[in-house]
Amino acid sequence: TPVIGVLALQGDVREHLVALAAADAVARPVRRPDELAGVDGLVLPGGESTTISKLAVLFGLMEPLRARVRAGMPVYGTCAGLILLADKILDPRSGQETVGGIDMIVRRNAFGRQNESFEASVDVKGVAGGPVDGVFIRAPWVESVGARAEVLAGHDGHIVAVRQDNALATSFHPELTGDHRVHALFVDMVRVNGVTESL
Ligand code: GLN
Repeated sequence: TPVIGVLALQGDVREHLVALAAADAVARPVRRPDELAGVDGLVLPGGESTTISKLAVLFGLMEPLRARVRAGMPVYGTCAGLILLADKILDPRSGQETVGGIDMIVRRNAFGRQNESFEASVDVKGVAGGPVDGVFIRAPWVESVGARAEVLAGHDGHIVAVRQDNALATSFHPELTGDHRVHALFVDMVRVNGVTESL
């Protein structure tokens, strides 16, 4: 069984732990480098990307995160997590760092403010059984992707789901819907990549 961590510095950690467990993974919060070392894959949750990034630096997690993502650990980011996986943020807040891993440029808060949050049905390539219910909360969109990144979904003419190798990212929050198909897709990515035998 794959052991999948959820970066637990800020954001909707608990919802991802529940969704991963429902998709047949063992799910654990990750706050320290030694906890990161013990997982087969990692979710970067929704929340506030500037806060998560600052805390990751403060907790000594930023470099270990970059190293594991570079080494091919499967990683899935939702919303703020998508921002953290971008190689480039448009107009970053000063000092806002990302983990990177996907050759894409993202625009934060692109779909509007908190009170302009919305739901829309989204067809996601690789997810069978019809569109998913996309929950967009002060969501980013992806302005452009590089040649190695594959666009998996769009909404209103904007890119909202991307995969590059073992990195998956969505602007929206499947962990808030009770539909675990996107998490199941990620758990499959982790299985294919290889799972450490645990006791
Ligand atoms: N607007 C947030 C950010 O820029 C993301 C919001 C979310 O994760 N729901 O980090």
